[in-house]
Amino acid sequence: MMSTIEERAEELYGRIRACQLCPLAGTRTNAVPGEGPLDAELMLIGEAPGMNEDKQGRPFVGAAGQFLSELLAAAGLRREDVYICNVLKCRPPGNRDPLPSEIDACRDYLDEQIDLIDPLVIVTLGRYSMAKFFPRQTISRIHGQPKEIAGAWYVPMYHPAAALHQGNLREVMLNDFRKLPAILDRARVARRGAVLQPEQAPRPEPASLLREQSPAYGGLPRTEEAAPAAEQARLFD
Ligand code: URA
Repeated sequence: MMSTIEERAEELYGRIRACQLCPLAGTRTNAVPGEGPLDAELMLIGEAPGMNEDKQGRPFVGAAGQFLSELLAAAGLRREDVYICNVLKCRPPGNRDPLPSEIDACRDYLDEQIDLIDPLVIVTLGRYSMAKFFPRQTISRIHGQPKEIAGAWYVPMYHPAAALHQGNLREVMLNDFRKLPAILDRARVARRGAVLQPEQAPRPEPASLLREQSPAYGGLPRTEEAAPAAEQARLFD
């Protein structure tokens, strides 16, 4: 019998919580599968659980998580409406960087999660999740710039913890997150076009027209605030 998305998620979370694929199983308190609505449009992928996450079994519950909620608020989004997970599901001792072998061991879990949630937009937080979709890139060069790969949109962002150590990154990150509504809007239009039957599908239109017609702008001509924000950011050149 076909299982529901909730059953598939529970089964996946169960496997992650019981995982013994790498030595982090021996040092974790709790594995941290991830959380959020299974039909979320936006998925955020961090690096690995820290001390607080390891204690609670939930992602981004410490200081970086607090800043992440602020960043989402700057984009008009609420934490409870987005799906949040990490490259590694278990805390590396002392919060050291993930090892390549640990990333390999966890890879299938993240791939299954992406497959299950099928988000419109994936935001990578920090260099380890960026490396999955943007190999050999540097975050300082590409942060905040969306990229479409095979119908899905990816946006590399700095890790929120980086802004806690480097104050000047705060504004940079807030500005990058403020681009998300326009990116989501664009991704919605693209997906809607992709699911229509060929005879119903709209002819390709200039990006500016698509933005004007989309529901995120109320189906009305775009507002004075929204359009300049998207255009100044030069999101879709
Ligand atoms: N940093 C991460 O990358 N993930 C968390 O869950 C918490 C902090």
